[in-house]
Amino acid sequence: MEKHPEPLSGCFFISHNAILSSNQESGVFSFCFHWTTVLLNYVTSSRLPTPWANFTLSVFLEKATQKEHLVISLGDLSTPEPVLLRLHSECLTGDALFSLRCDCGPQLEKALQRIADEGRGAILYLRQEGRGIGLINKIRAYHLQDQGADTVEANEQLGFHADERNYELIRPMLDYFNIKTIRLMTNNPRKVKALEDLGYTVTERIEHRIEPNPYNRYYLHTKALKLGHFLDEPEA
Ligand SMILES: [Zn+2]
Repeated sequence: MEKHPEPLSGCFFISHNAILSSNQESGVFSFCFHWTTVLLNYVTSSRLPTPWANFTLSVFLEKATQKEHLVISLGDLSTPEPVLLRLHSECLTGDALFSLRCDCGPQLEKALQRIADEGRGAILYLRQEGRGIGLINKIRAYHLQDQGADTVEANEQLGFHADERNYELIRPMLDYFNIKTIRLMTNNPRKVKALEDLGYTVTERIEHRIEPNPYNRYYLHTKALKLGHFLDEPEA
């Protein structure tokens, strides 16, 4: 176990290797992000041509984990008008593997389309797979869901909270682009609150619903019921 050099009360850091060797079964671990220094640093950027627009892709490196977080942006974000924004947490299965278990892939595509339509905006692509529990534990949670648990119960059976994401990460990215006021594409009231708690102004919440399919209908229902997402309630 590798202690954080300057731990605050109740916070500690365990390396991935330590987890795999000492606690592989439960996979229970915690990260503390209460750093007194900057969490992320800007590294570099490039063009990102897509079917919808020629975006700019900027990469930031998280000091604590060495994870790369991304900003996909379009237009001049430094002007005073509120910025059309999406906070998108990485979902390898949904974003890249076409999984129908969740709504992440279509939500990402819809956000890119909306920003392209308006000609200005940004997606913060946060490497917080599985609402922050990582890919291995997300697949463990899917295994439990295959046996009847819902998405919240599965996370809790693995020893995690229903949502382990840390939105402190977004501050260095928003500050880099000088974004202060935001029109947020989300169904998740926690994201609006997270931004407001960080001191940003959310002038508008733009609903970001995706048509359910037979595989994600129950998942979306659970998100509405247990995580307070603003979703049309499909039949349970
Ligand atoms: Zn997903």
